[in-house]
Amino acid sequence: MSGQKETLTFQAEVSQVLNLVIRSLYSNKEIFLRELVSNASDAAEKLRFEALADDALYESDPELRIRLHVDKDANTLSIEDNGIGMSRAEVGETIGTIASSGTKKFLAELSGDQTKDSALIGQFGVGFYSAFIVADKVTLETRRAGLSAAEGVRWESSGEGSYTLETIERAQRGTTVTLHLNEDAKDYLDDWRLRSVVNKFSDHIAMPVEMLEQPPAPPPAADDDKKDDAADDAEQKDDADNKATETPAPEWKKVNTGTALWMRNKSDIKDEEYQEFYKHVSSDFEEALTWAHNRVEGSHDYTSLLYIPGRAPFDLWEREQKHGVKLYVRRVFIMDEADKLMPRYLRFVKGIVDSDDLPLNVSRELLQEDKKIDNIRTANTKRILGLLEKMAKDDNEKYEKFWGQFGNVLKEGPAEDYTNREKIGGLLRFASTAEGDPTHVSLDQYIERMVEKQEKIYYITADNLAAARNSPHLEVFKKKGIEVLLLVDRVDEWLVSHFMEYKDKQLQSVAKGELDLGDLADKEDQEKAEKASEEHKHFLERVKTALGDEVKSVRVSTRLTDSPACLVVEQYDMSQNMARMLQQMGQGAGGPAPTPIMEVNLEHPLISQMDQEADEDQFVDLAKLVFDQALLAEGGQLQDPATFVHRLNRLILDLQGKQPAVAESA
Ligand code: ADP
Repeated sequence: MSGQKETLTFQAEVSQVLNLVIRSLYSNKEIFLRELVSNASDAAEKLRFEALADDALYESDPELRIRLHVDKDANTLSIEDNGIGMSRAEVGETIGTIASSGTKKFLAELSGDQTKDSALIGQFGVGFYSAFIVADKVTLETRRAGLSAAEGVRWESSGEGSYTLETIERAQRGTTVTLHLNEDAKDYLDDWRLRSVVNKFSDHIAMPVEMLEQPPAPPPAADDDKKDDAADDAEQKDDADNKATETPAPEWKKVNTGTALWMRNKSDIKDEEYQEFYKHVSSDFEEALTWAHNRVEGSHDYTSLLYIPGRAPFDLWEREQKHGVKLYVRRVFIMDEADKLMPRYLRFVKGIVDSDDLPLNVSRELLQEDKKIDNIRTANTKRILGLLEKMAKDDNEKYEKFWGQFGNVLKEGPAEDYTNREKIGGLLRFASTAEGDPTHVSLDQYIERMVEKQEKIYYITADNLAAARNSPHLEVFKKKGIEVLLLVDRVDEWLVSHFMEYKDKQLQSVAKGELDLGDLADKEDQEKAEKASEEHKHFLERVKTALGDEVKSVRVSTRLTDSPACLVVEQYDMSQNMARMLQQMGQGAGGPAPTPIMEVNLEHPLISQMDQEADEDQFVDLAKLVFDQALLAEGGQLQDPATFVHRLNRLILDLQGKQPAVAESA
């Protein structure tokens, strides 16, 4: 089977990515080099890691490096690494296939509108396929470290729907990607041009990137000149022996700095270099919003370089969504997605942690229980929250951008991270009745604007902003000029079930419990309501009987000014909105929805009219109608819409017969 040349068709998704990459990045061609050098560097780091357990993998070639070859006659540029390489199966799995279900879903959602789709490309790493921006044909030859020379693989494609795969002889391990440059990309054959691009994209990479260089002609009478760092190179000795007659052969010379960026002094690193490194570690295409670079010394020495991306990846909400921090131990790459280095609600943070003290053979299991890792996570969390606080304070525009992308993830924070919930609370932003859409009101702003005697932070949860803003529950708050936060994201229910207090102020749903406005309540109103309850006791019981088990009880409302009725739940019950959400997600397992309490507004004409209704059938119809209306008004759905419509029509006809006009209560 292996050995024979197969021609295979790209997965439909791959063709899509390819087209998208080529179309959208044409004006930004040179990034192909960043992607391929980045892959080569990752491959070298993986080899170094695997060789920790089995140094035979180095074979006789322990100096890891990346080399760029230019062949002007053949019009090719090759990127060669002596890293981990790939087996035939691995090539098939990684190149020519897209495994992530998230990517597939994402691609399925592409609109077909070129400009819109192009903007989306930054959301996933363009990776290997960027080679086709500059090449008509790409040849990849590779051999997995540890496999024999007969188990090399050649993959080749012109990026048009199919590729070939065959087994070849390959003497050395690692991968060579050869680009057959297209007409518009010939300038990469130029030594000077290539160097400048390499510098831009690989200076921060810890692996040396080498290019051939013609050494200067040797000085005529020098016999013992070991002057440069290549002096220990065996080839050079040979050259020295032959120097009399031949021009010296070109030598491989390091083009980049080749030191890990994070090991350098903060003050020596330019912002552009930080951004380049970000793109390398994150596979992001766009710039990071900000970063924190720290060296920690003490009981445990480590360096961290953490970035906040400018844009959420499309799979942020996928269950398999990965963490973005890589772990190094003394400059050796250990693992991607080290999820113990950041709490889940900060999973969007990208970057590296390089520890001086962890053992090199540290495994995911060991990380679970390592105290040092706990300390790093605690410090990382603090650092990121601090970074966000600073951003919110100094650069609101940037913070808004951050919030738009990652706010909903941050809202998972108070539930997950009890210790930092107050800090996280300060970073939260909400829509509010005090401002138009869209709003991002902070809790501190809210507290500052609280009216005299107000003690609680009031909020309402709903399915969307319109439903929240127009909810009957807000009526009394509007009347009294009290601001209410509008919580309309799915995660908000989760948030408020764990985040009940901020700066000693209780968060209170306006749709839960007895309306307790504390000192804000008008004594008169309350007394009036109590008196009314007593007076209308019979009426309230009659409504309850009409509605049966649909409601827990019926009581007089102090919340309403314009609506006839609203539904509320007990203070510690699940909110109606939450119950609806669970139902939509098919999670009946969350328990049955709590039975609501119906509150009626005795001053509303519909209710007072009902009170006088002698016909019992008519009364039941009206009661049910009021109940259904209340449900609709808060964004709920009727169990039986058809019956509602029949009932409504019956009443309209009936009322028309009885009196001149329908009450203007809708
Ligand atoms: P990404 O790097 O984001 O995973 P790529 O398309 O760049 O996406 O690469 C896909 C996969 O192909 C890599 O994850 C890696 O497993 C493999 N790969 C690419 N280049 C190399 C290389 N030079 N050496 C070894 N494996 C490679």
